[in-house]
Amino acid sequence: MALYDVVVVGGGGTGLMAALAAAKQGATVLVLEKGPQLGGTTAMSVGTVAASGTRLQRESGIDDHPDAHFDDMALFKPEQANCDHLSLRRLLVDHAPETIALLEDCGVVFMGPLPEPPHRVPRLHAIIPHSRGFIDHLARACVTHGVTFKTQMQVVKLREEAGRVSGVLAKDRQGMAHEIGARRAVILASGDFSAAGLDYKSRFMSGALLEIGGINPLSTGDGQAMGEEMGGEVLNGDMAWGPELRFLAPATPSLIARLPTWTVLAKLLLKAIRLCPAWIMRPFLMGFVTTFLAPSPNLFQKGAILINQQGHRFCDERQRPQDHVGRQTPDTGFIVFGSEIARLFQAWPNFISTAPGVGYAYLNDYEGARKDIVHRHQTLQALAQSIGVPLTALQQAVDQHNQQAALDETLQPIQQGPFYALGPVKSWIVFSEGGLKIDAHFRVLDRQGQPIKGLYAAGSAGQGGLLLEGHGHHLAWAFTSGRLAGEQAAKETPLDERTTDQAIAS
Ligand SMILES: Cc1cc2nc3c(=O)[nH]c(=O)nc-3n(C[C@H](O)[C@H](O)[C@H](O)COP(=O)(O)OP(=O)(O)OC[C@H]3O[C@@H](n4cnc5c(N)ncnc54)[C@H](O)[C@@H]3O)c2cc1C
Repeated sequence: MALYDVVVVGGGGTGLMAALAAAKQGATVLVLEKGPQLGGTTAMSVGTVAASGTRLQRESGIDDHPDAHFDDMALFKPEQANCDHLSLRRLLVDHAPETIALLEDCGVVFMGPLPEPPHRVPRLHAIIPHSRGFIDHLARACVTHGVTFKTQMQVVKLREEAGRVSGVLAKDRQGMAHEIGARRAVILASGDFSAAGLDYKSRFMSGALLEIGGINPLSTGDGQAMGEEMGGEVLNGDMAWGPELRFLAPATPSLIARLPTWTVLAKLLLKAIRLCPAWIMRPFLMGFVTTFLAPSPNLFQKGAILINQQGHRFCDERQRPQDHVGRQTPDTGFIVFGSEIARLFQAWPNFISTAPGVGYAYLNDYEGARKDIVHRHQTLQALAQSIGVPLTALQQAVDQHNQQAALDETLQPIQQGPFYALGPVKSWIVFSEGGLKIDAHFRVLDRQGQPIKGLYAAGSAGQGGLLLEGHGHHLAWAFTSGRLAGEQAAKETPLDERTTDQAIAS
């Protein structure tokens, strides 16, 4: 049986940070990833990380402190204050600045900090060129420190020995079972459960969350389930980011998005962003978008409509349209509007979506960089043909909307060409918030509040009831908790010493 000091379940941001931190302490480390490559949801993310008191903030003349960050985090969803875990929030804000510094040491380049109220000062650090950079740089640092990776290895069970977790049972691509021992600890870094089966999700969630899948199909809550099997408990399992409408990610990433994530290239880009006029850089930066961006609900507030593949409207677009798209066949839709809306969505505050690199992306940006999802035609007939819906149904949907708009001055009509359809859009759970209950050392706790020996959890799998509202806190937690869990796990008393001690005692 292969034996390592620390076995990490999951090769996303948390897992790689945990592996690096444990290896730096001198531990032998194995990362098991069930997907064909490292990355997880981390590599699909927009790539913003929230932190206070960082180098970038200081260089921008921003005076900030984790205490202020701690207080501001409470302002995002004050109504959920009773579901929060304040000591984990404290850990997060206190250690997030070191996390940013460590990522920079590994070669990650950030731009910003960008503002996001109610943060009192700009705190969002946005990776350049895109979030795969986290994975590339961390994986390289891990290799330098001797970490072993195995992809297409799904951990299916935790092993137990002498009253503690002592390793894992994993299955490879061919379904062959492998037993792997962990002398010191197993760290669950296996992400969230947004794409778990109904039987698991329905234990925590209800309503639209059960009908809609997760963006990352590998986020099936394996770590949560295995932790529970060992006596652990999932907190805030009913909470999720979503359902939310998102444009499909580009089917084939642009040439620019396929550029390597080298530090030197990212630094050049950062210089160019600072020096070149925005009109030169914006199309270039939008070309880096590899992920699923969320159309702003403001489009519907202003009068855009949502149609299904049959050309029909199917809900009041201003009342949680994301809950209805999943019930259409196929489960996608198009956002339709005319030049009345198009004119509005060219400048702040009417953006189409947030976007990495540019902060807020307007219709112009989309027309330049996301031709795959922008359909623009002079007539409704041409538009219907372009998106493959019957003209009569589209005309009816538009007529119905225009009657409504005639009575409601907040709604723009759809009368003047060119006409637009943005999409397809689909509804997803972006990620779920339910993670295993942990202590301040990232040890998984059982229902009596006692640590389960040899078992640690971090990132989404070990979110522990912490609220991470606002942008940038999930990645901040993934990297920070992974790092701290890795350091702790490497210090765990090894199994052989422990069993020897126990044998002597008895
Ligand atoms: C579209 C999108 C945009 C986002 N943008 C941002 C953002 O800009 N800022 C921010 O803060 N947050 C963002 N998030 C959220 C953030 O990306 C996640 O919360 C974070 O990446 C979770 O990290 P993780 O390491 O816990 O999980 P992951 O990155 O998902 O890693 C878990 C890994 O474990 C693997 N795994 C699962 N089960 C097993 C098993 N049984 N055996 C072996 N391997 C297993 C998975 O395949 C996966 O690779 C975004 C999320 C999405 C979907």
